Amino acid sequence: MSTAPALLQDEFLDALRGILGDRVSTADAVREQHGHDESYHDGQPPDAVVFPENADEVAAVVRLCADHHVPVIPFGTGTSLEGHVAALGGGVCIDVSRMNKIIRVNAEDMDVTVEPGVTRKQLNEYLRDTGLFFPVDPGADASIGGMTATRASGTNAVRYGTMRENVLSLGVVLADGRQIRTAGRARKSSAGYDLTRLYVGSEGTLGVITEITLRLFGIPEAISAAVASFPDLESAVNAVILTIQSGIPVARIELLDEVQMDAVNKYSKLDYPVQPTLFFEFHGSEAGVAEQAETVQAIATDFGAADFKWATRPEDRSALWQARHDAYYAALALRPGAKGMATDACVPISRLAECIMETRKDIDESGILAPIVGHVGDGNFHLCMIFDPDDADELARAKALNERMIMRALAMEGTCTGEHGVGIGKMDFLIAAHGEELDRFVFHRDWKRVRGKKVDRGSVVDVLE
Ligand SMILES: Cc1cc2nc3c(=O)[nH]c(=O)nc-3n(C[C@H](O)[C@H](O)[C@H](O)COP(=O)(O)OP(=O)(O)OC[C@H]3O[C@@H](n4cnc5c(N)ncnc54)[C@H](O)[C@@H]3O)c2cc1C
Repeated sequence: MSTAPALLQDEFLDALRGILGDRVSTADAVREQHGHDESYHDGQPPDAVVFPENADEVAAVVRLCADHHVPVIPFGTGTSLEGHVAALGGGVCIDVSRMNKIIRVNAEDMDVTVEPGVTRKQLNEYLRDTGLFFPVDPGADASIGGMTATRASGTNAVRYGTMRENVLSLGVVLADGRQIRTAGRARKSSAGYDLTRLYVGSEGTLGVITEITLRLFGIPEAISAAVASFPDLESAVNAVILTIQSGIPVARIELLDEVQMDAVNKYSKLDYPVQPTLFFEFHGSEAGVAEQAETVQAIATDFGAADFKWATRPEDRSALWQARHDAYYAALALRPGAKGMATDACVPISRLAECIMETRKDIDESGILAPIVGHVGDGNFHLCMIFDPDDADELARAKALNERMIMRALAMEGTCTGEHGVGIGKMDFLIAAHGEELDRFVFHRDWKRVRGKKVDRGSVVDVLE
């Protein structure tokens, strides 16, 4: 049942209901569900959740919120990993899941325009008969709006790029309710500021994305996947580095260490060797795929790989990638009742082996259960640290491990987040990455008081102030 929201007055709620009728909820369960993501971070429910069905409704809600200085938090599917959707300053959560229409497929131009609540699986299902597909794949069935807002990537990015490369244009509701289109559908433009890329990765702080035009790709004539086990972690990482430096256009190249392989075997009922392992996928013509696979196999063998297992049938490939995508949940299942903290370092490829090996040493010294997985072709890897939420000492050790990993990545000219985004978990590290001046120029207030929880973020209204 509904509770009396702290921030919102009756008059405001009446006005909200005047716009959306019964598509406004202040029910505890609905607010609770919208106040947290998939991460370990504490959630914070918004005061109300609204379910608009088109951009004009979003604009009307945002305008009302701006007039009343009420924060706005856009919400896609809530799969983010850094406390992104927590309503730290209360306010209205705009859930765009009912805006889930695929507006137009332009097959000749290889692009598609969608509403923000369309999920990536829904899109690819829809596109299947067109011979086209959308490659950005974060594993979770995230919304295209959320993926745009977090500048997501995933397993295919090494070949097809991230959301940064694949978003052509956006419809956005600005913080005062005005609506803009950031670009046309042209593949290139030098018409001044690149507004599209300003919004890609803005995490709901600059506006609500209401329409996205994406690049599409032809489904490759041939696809094959392979799994190879290595004698040690360093050999596996060095095989990746040489593959990338040799310019082989692998579509996917994923690392799982032996702890993660054990977890995957148990969770997905598989029997891969419990050793550091690379999962590969090759896309292209029959001849091209065969050539890429042969070259990579030779590189892997030079680094001691054994057990090269091939998967060419679609069902075998999807079982293999499903196991990879379930890695987070497989790691969590290693210790029932525990929580997971996902880290997200990304470094230039030449520093990857050093970064992973030093991190492995830290893991061993910390005593934290922390399987390693990574989109290593991009220099990006994660620890899924498993900890007991009631054990303050273990949580502190996990946080210290995360911090060391981030500072190491920054020292190697990398980033504190390759793909998960900032949310509330990485706010402090942006200052470590960009310096104190960032505080003055980019973020408007109270930035450094994050640790003291005096934060009012995730709000398009904030930007106006
Ligand atoms: C098991 C697992 C694996 C994952 N693997 C990957 C991975 O490989 N790569 C990767 O990049 N991510 C990964 N993620 C993280 C997550 O899936 C991505 O961050 C995804 O892009 C979030 O999309 P969402 O729809 O769930 O967004 P939400 O979680 O709903 O929102 C995320 C942020 O975007 C904002 N937002 C949402 N919709 C809009 C909109 N329409 N307009 C403006 N702002 C908006 C929100 O306010 C919030 O700040 C993984 C998550 C899980 C649980």
